[in-house]
Amino acid sequence: MIQLHQLSKSFGRLEVLRGIDLAFDQPGITAVLGPNGSGKSTLLKSILGMVIPDAGQILFHGKPIDPLGSYRKDISYLPQIARFPENLRVAELIRMIESFRPQESSSAALIRDFGLGPVLQSQLGHLSGGTRQKVNLVLTLMYDTPVIILDEPTAGLDPVALVRLKDRIIQAREAGKILLVTTHIMSLVEELADRVVFLLEGRIYFDGKPGELKQRVAEPTLEKAIANLLSGGHLSPIQLPESAGRVTRKMNGHVVHPQYNP
Ligand code: ADP
Ligand code: MG
Repeated sequence: MIQLHQLSKSFGRLEVLRGIDLAFDQPGITAVLGPNGSGKSTLLKSILGMVIPDAGQILFHGKPIDPLGSYRKDISYLPQIARFPENLRVAELIRMIESFRPQESSSAALIRDFGLGPVLQSQLGHLSGGTRQKVNLVLTLMYDTPVIILDEPTAGLDPVALVRLKDRIIQAREAGKILLVTTHIMSLVEELADRVVFLLEGRIYFDGKPGELKQRVAEPTLEKAIANLLSGGHLSPIQLPESAGRVTRKMNGHVVHPQYNP
């Protein structure tokens, strides 16, 4: 459904994505992991057409995306940083967004789930960070779309809201949706993710099942596996684009990372 081919993006001299190849074709939950600044949000925003890549291609349903096109109606997106008009009340914002879209919204159930009833008449500027994040989640999840992209959905959430969010994510998977999620909560990834994509310095260092990652670095938990990856021992990107300007050579059909060359 979503394919990224050799996607590259720089901001000035900073190469944030360096020839990323990825496909999201199966229903399920993919956790996009990586340290701060590794390009996770940039990658997700590229799929939304909010970041225009310097090179490479993004296909949605087999067609190159058109940032002005209608493909985005099939995607629910939770931005990492949501800025709301401060003076607007929560209920007004939700109603305003609902007035833009003809589809049926399930905002009432989400408001109930996330316990937002008491703040519906509060101004957005007066809300705590966690409550604002709950509003952000209601706005994202209130439409039924085949793809859901959540950039740090757990930020600031209390334990009850976290449980509600998990239930929603699981329901979406059961409904056959494609979910892409970033989070720093490794226990959540361990519990929910069908697939882990690990980004570092603009490249993919791992793409597979969480269990395979733990096995590969012989660590019992994902948290330890990621820490192990970052400490350097097992690091080598699974792809090295020529554009990265590094020497690679093929050995029995496998791309060999320079650090392993004799
Ligand atoms: P992550 O989500 O993994 O923390 P981001 O994709 O947000 O990382 O950012 C990757 C890098 O790109 C960071 O160094 C960030 O400062 C930089 N960056 C992101 N967006 C912009 C932008 N619009 N202009 C300049 N630099 C940016
Ligand atoms: Mg981010």
